[in-house]
Amino acid sequence: MTTPPWVSSQEAKPAPMPLLLVQSFVNTWDGDNGSDLLLDPAAAGGWLTAAGLWDADRAPEPAELDIARRLRESIRALLVANGGGPEPTPGDLQAIQAAAQDARPALQVGSGGQVSILAGPVGPLGAGLTRLLLAIRDAQRDGSWQRLKACGNPDCRWAFYDRSHGQVGAWCDMATCGNRIKNRRLRQRRR
Ligand SMILES: [Zn+2]
Repeated sequence: MTTPPWVSSQEAKPAPMPLLLVQSFVNTWDGDNGSDLLLDPAAAGGWLTAAGLWDADRAPEPAELDIARRLRESIRALLVANGGGPEPTPGDLQAIQAAAQDARPALQVGSGGQVSILAGPVGPLGAGLTRLLLAIRDAQRDGSWQRLKACGNPDCRWAFYDRSHGQVGAWCDMATCGNRIKNRRLRQRRR
């Protein structure tokens, strides 16, 4: 599979499509170098357009990016729970519940009679966020959702897709995060 241009070059453990969309959305924030693709309207518009989450002749407004970033952290909290961390709090769920409330999914029947759910007309941001919610729903139904996890390193929290047998993976990358945490625990035990 060739990697789509909107997927980070740091993506060592990519999810299958369309869950890759959710993973890449969460990874627009990179804790390692402190970069955030959803901060600057022009840059955010470029990334969201490339990912098919934005379809408008204008860049997103700062208020719209605020909503997108809050949804991103809400999803990240779900991925922390998928990784064996604490369950999301009501506060964690607020943004994703608000996005669900604003979503207007639409049903469509194809030429072969296949029924599909699409994002309805709720403005460019609403449509994009609905696509993310639908990808989450599909993944929850086919079981792939549990494999999308936030890294166990609290300073990292990078979203990775756990293909390990038994779904026991905890780190975005064993060589960096996994060893960093193990060394820290070792030092703590020696003290
Ligand atoms: Zn990590």
